[in-house]
Amino acid sequence: MTKHNNTTSRAARSLMISVFLLSCLIVSSNCQVELSQTTNASTKMPVADEDLSHLKVVSGGDKMSLEDFDQYLGSYIGDEREFALVLDFDGTLAELTSHPNLSAMTPEMKETLENIANSGRVFVTIISGRDVHGVKEKVGIKNIVYSGNHGLEVLYPDGRRHNQGISKELSDNFGKMVEQLTNELAHDGAWVENKKVSLTFHIRQVDPKLVPQMEARAAQIIESYGYRANKAHAAIEGKPPIHWNKGLAAELILKSNFDRNWETRKVIFAGDDTTDEDVMIVIKGFGRSFRVSNDANVQTNADFRIPSVKSVFYMLKWIEQKVCA
Ligand SMILES: [Mg+2]
Repeated sequence: MTKHNNTTSRAARSLMISVFLLSCLIVSSNCQVELSQTTNASTKMPVADEDLSHLKVVSGGDKMSLEDFDQYLGSYIGDEREFALVLDFDGTLAELTSHPNLSAMTPEMKETLENIANSGRVFVTIISGRDVHGVKEKVGIKNIVYSGNHGLEVLYPDGRRHNQGISKELSDNFGKMVEQLTNELAHDGAWVENKKVSLTFHIRQVDPKLVPQMEARAAQIIESYGYRANKAHAAIEGKPPIHWNKGLAAELILKSNFDRNWETRKVIFAGDDTTDEDVMIVIKGFGRSFRVSNDANVQTNADFRIPSVKSVFYMLKWIEQKVCA
């Protein structure tokens, strides 16, 4: 009887240990990477100056801190005379809101970015989907190169402008396209943002049941005027069908500042949307890019994923400490 009891308790102990080990395995796999190095088998390329495969930070929720960026940028940013910081605005520097007019940087974010832009060591550019004057007004810092309409417009601090060419026919069609979209689809919470060169059809506040039909019709109207329809965060973008994107705009801006040796410069980029992926591709190998997303499975060309606008703030604080000390 005693022998049987001992055997039974040994078996029970073994079972408990197995269950415990299995639980640990499940917990550790679920806790992974609020901030992590990303992987994308189809596009991942080796990072030029070091092997980053050892980097993997386990952190909970939004609890990232300044020190986390020692691991991601500490060995990258040294005593460079000048390096570049390229940023998206909505969802990166400012939280996404139900209406673009409501979005704003926190005062702390603005102060930190302003200190960086005025440090003399960092060339700062912001490339946004908003129109260029809209994003400049939202950020409100002088010493920055602003780009709007996903790179179609560039505005330099000295007043110089670059507008990517659009044919007269497309330009003439733009007003008619905005008018038809507004007349036909601006109801039930949907509305059209006229950005002069491109448009955004917003559906964030629309009943989810109506969304597929509205998206399809908006795309149909946009394409009937010769523009390209792209899906974005709770929106359909209508853009001129020219080969231009945020990545090419970043290249143009960085070249104009650093000349043709721009690829030898250090470049840090952060963005939260699919349109930001083009910048990540352009700087792949010599830059450091961050995709702002709380989705651990997001497909991205970025070197790292960071979870929130707040984590972008910590990144800026890290840079500020480095260049304003
Ligand atoms: Mg964005």
